Amino acid sequence: MLATTTTVDNYINGQAVPPSSNDYLDIINPSTCAIIGKVALSRHSDVNAAVAAANAAFPAWSALTVKARAAIMLEFHALIRSHANELAQLIVSENGKNITEALADVAKGNETVEYATSLPQLMQGKIDYVSSGGVSCRDRRDPLGVVVSIVPFNFPFMVPHWTLPIALVAGNTVVLKPSEKVPLTMYKVMELVEKAGFPKGVVNLVNGTKDAVTSLIDHPLVKAVTFVGSSPVAKSIADRCHSWNKRCTALGGAKNHLIALPDCDAESASSDIVVSYAGCAGQRCMAASVLLIVGDENGSEQRELLHKVIEKASAIQPGTGPGQMGPVIDEPSLNKILGYIEQSEKEGAEILLDGRSWISRMGHTKGNWIGPTIIHHKNKSDKAMNEEVFGPVLSVYHVNTWQEAIAIENANPFGNAAAIYTSNGGHAEWFTRRVRASMLGVNIGIPVPREPFSFGGLYGTRSKYGDMDITGDGAIEFFTNRIKITSKWPTPTVPEYVMGVEQQQ
Ligand code: NAD
Repeated sequence: MLATTTTVDNYINGQAVPPSSNDYLDIINPSTCAIIGKVALSRHSDVNAAVAAANAAFPAWSALTVKARAAIMLEFHALIRSHANELAQLIVSENGKNITEALADVAKGNETVEYATSLPQLMQGKIDYVSSGGVSCRDRRDPLGVVVSIVPFNFPFMVPHWTLPIALVAGNTVVLKPSEKVPLTMYKVMELVEKAGFPKGVVNLVNGTKDAVTSLIDHPLVKAVTFVGSSPVAKSIADRCHSWNKRCTALGGAKNHLIALPDCDAESASSDIVVSYAGCAGQRCMAASVLLIVGDENGSEQRELLHKVIEKASAIQPGTGPGQMGPVIDEPSLNKILGYIEQSEKEGAEILLDGRSWISRMGHTKGNWIGPTIIHHKNKSDKAMNEEVFGPVLSVYHVNTWQEAIAIENANPFGNAAAIYTSNGGHAEWFTRRVRASMLGVNIGIPVPREPFSFGGLYGTRSKYGDMDITGDGAIEFFTNRIKITSKWPTPTVPEYVMGVEQQQ
């Protein structure tokens, strides 16, 4: 049993294990910049120990029935529910989300746990007679072996649970590498892993940074890797995995566009737009970052929408209580966001709402605070219009036509998500057929497809490298090998009395 502690070690074969080097990094609360703990900085030997434990646990775990593994996952699901408040408090302290967002982080992750308990129904093979000569073919899904999950800071609970539950119920054993910025949540989850009854070695944690990741990918016993994080790292991970012929899903960054048509409902659209761009301090891969308002810039509908967006964003208060907006994760992130705002000013953009005021306002508590910001661009080539800012910054740009809006969205190199606001179903249909992004919203600014649908960016863009999606049926495909068995049996010589019985039936 793990002790409650702010020293986050590795978790290998059911034990908390310090890193072999005894090196640790500080864990910082982004709301105050106070050090709240330390996290193991693992090296090659720590990775070896974790993979060896996972590999040793694999034969017995994979030999259980899918139902038996799902039964343990069901216990795990109940434990997550009963510990949701405790987990959410850890998320608030290490990530800076507000408490409502932190509880949602846990609840959404637990939805994938719930989905994984249905794998006995969802991962069955199929059988068919494939020739008239009595030849049958059946297939079954076998687990891959030891699989690795590498996750970012922005959803300390949900993103690890995009992969853990499905990988495990499918029969794999797992080594997880949490973000070194938010390691407390998943360390706590290891207590629940123990309580739920996962055998030792089935779930392992290796903390650390790039060295640990590289050793994990290169380890010959690791069969597949899921990664979620920034695009350059996603690409390097997918390339490295593929050089070893390992299966890899690597989800990267995003630049999501919202397109507002003049016929949208300004009241509900403005609320949704603000939640989409400023929720979780804009640190969501599904966050809106560009609002394209279609039609005359001085038209009444267009002005009303923008006015409401500014009004609602201005009302947001700093803090981690319900409805408030937390800080961004660290000082480098804050400086990067400030850089985009300053650069936009130099490029001639107008700052309609300036979140920099929060820096002096919150100055008494050190922390990475920046308020909701709205930039009105005159040039679509401005840097903040085109690069991932990953903060509470909305770029607004006026376009005359839908086609222009779609052309801007389709030219962005990420292709992750996009949404349209309209009260006309035909307009929505037109949009969803033409826009080039993987996850599309109609009057929904954070169009996350929940299970059984799969989550993931678009192939051939910076939002997704590698193979398949990360949740839903895409993940079942990812975490299993399909084994095909083609059989032919000679017609049996049946005793006459048996044939007689058969004929009577
Ligand atoms: P990041 O890429 O810096 O880190 C992600 C993980 O990779 C961490 O565990 C980190 O320790 C590790 N890592 C960092 N640099 C590495 C390197 N050079 N080599 C190997 N491993 C490395 O990302 P982040 O800052 O933690 O998260 C924010 C990013 O994640 C944003 O770009 C966001 O869009 C993206 N994200 C994408 C999705 C999605 O579904 N597409 C979801 C959440 C976050």
